[in-house]
Amino acid sequence: MENGGSAEECCVKVAVHVRPLIGDERSQGCKDCVTVIPAKPQVQIGTHSFTFDHVYGSCGSPSSAMFEECVAPLVDGLFQGYNATVLAYGQTGSGKTYTMGTGYRDGCRAGLIPQVMDALFNKIETLKSRTEFQLRVSFIEILKEEVRDLLDPASAGKSDTLNGHAGKVTVPGKPPIQIRETSNGVITLAGSTEIDVSTQKEMAACLEQGSLSRATGSTNMNSQSSRSHAIFTITVEQMRKWDIAGGEAGSLDDGGEDYLCAKLHLVDLAGSERAKRTGSDGLRFKEGVHINKGLLALGNVISALGDEKKRKEGVHVPYRDSKLTRLLQDSLGGNSRTVMIACISPADINAEETLNTLKYANRAR
Ligand code: ADP
Ligand code: MG
Repeated sequence: MENGGSAEECCVKVAVHVRPLIGDERSQGCKDCVTVIPAKPQVQIGTHSFTFDHVYGSCGSPSSAMFEECVAPLVDGLFQGYNATVLAYGQTGSGKTYTMGTGYRDGCRAGLIPQVMDALFNKIETLKSRTEFQLRVSFIEILKEEVRDLLDPASAGKSDTLNGHAGKVTVPGKPPIQIRETSNGVITLAGSTEIDVSTQKEMAACLEQGSLSRATGSTNMNSQSSRSHAIFTITVEQMRKWDIAGGEAGSLDDGGEDYLCAKLHLVDLAGSERAKRTGSDGLRFKEGVHINKGLLALGNVISALGDEKKRKEGVHVPYRDSKLTRLLQDSLGGNSRTVMIACISPADINAEETLNTLKYANRAR
């Protein structure tokens, strides 16, 4: 056992998603080297055994149980004003994009984000007679510590084939997107596109547009998306309607909130594999270093948050160490809810990276 004890009080929930062997792995003759014991819930690889909050195996359709157990409570929390973050972590090819749904194409609704949209709009439907809602979405990518707007209308569908990496300068003179913090601790992205959406269809269109922009932003789709963090953010603003005839008039001091705003970040993290695997030339190495910076900072932030003793001692949480953690600062820790989904391949050729992923995830809880 690499760990023990209860995760009940931890502010970060950790789940593991083991995908099935895929065609490539089968044709290479790979063996399945990961054992899932859902009842524990435990994952075993070789002599190592890890316990997490939830473990989802590769058989059947894990996505609806995963959504109900891990993500639906976060969607509900939005309506009470709690920010939340869902993170998909793992090596390239482990199923992060599949699990999140950030490779969205119309008609293919695999992943958590389409289910988030269903739940969100269903809930709004039941509340809208009493509450007015305003929804916004943004979709950005962090590559080499720079923020790129995936919903920028000026760069939609364009690919930057000259330098081989996405839209670094798609609109000449456009100022870079900046992460800012307001005086009351709210993190904002100055200069990024935020789209007001009023229907599920409009929200899905944003997801699709950004997914496409992420994929076409580079000459090499896989290397691009594997080195960047993609963050789809849904902001829910709600204003309670005061119904004079309904007897609620004047009861403004009944303890209820009139206005609430909360956001949900759905993050498809960069591939967690070691930089040495991504190539040997200087440029790629630099990218690898930067990605490690985000993932490293995230690991440090989450472990600082998860350590109750450290938290009580008021230990510094190193949000400022990377763009990723800075952006997520108001949605990780405090009153916000965080779920990390560690994605792993069951194939024996990936055993070393799988073990690294399980260790990273283990540190988060
Ligand atoms: P990543 O984003 O981590 O690089 P992907 O999400 O692109 O990985 O998944 C890699 C491949 O595995 C894709 O072909 C994807 O369709 C497939 N895949 C991932 N997860 C599953 C799953 N749960 N069931 C079936 N196929 C999956
Ligand atoms: Mg991916």
